Amino acid sequence: MEIITLKTNAQTEMIDITDRVQEALDRQGPRDGICMVYVPHTTAGVTINENADPTVRDDILMVLNQMVPSKAPYRHLEGNSPAHVKASLMGASQMVAVAQGRLVLGTWQGIFFCEFDGPRTRKIHVTIA
Ligand code: ZN
Repeated sequence: MEIITLKTNAQTEMIDITDRVQEALDRQGPRDGICMVYVPHTTAGVTINENADPTVRDDILMVLNQMVPSKAPYRHLEGNSPAHVKASLMGASQMVAVAQGRLVLGTWQGIFFCEFDGPRTRKIHVTIA
């Protein structure tokens, strides 16, 4: 398993980590298998979506903000319940096929780390099986 360390810059943002994940795979040599990208955090997630047009990620974050109100009768005392809810909506892991050491992604696809309670220093686990 490889661990990527990522410094996020904003309270909420989607960061394209496709190249960082591929670099982690490059260190493993040309293998076939499955790559699991796992985020060991409760207020961040990981998703796969378009990385060609950056307005797509803006729109995803806009809709998440509409779906999950910042003010609500949340019970969690830490005050970051919207971040927990958004993290669960995105999920903590993604799996991508690997062929000869390369991520098998669609032309327009990228892997995005989703920060919902930043800025923070985050970890991303990359495992090939
Ligand atoms: Zn919390």
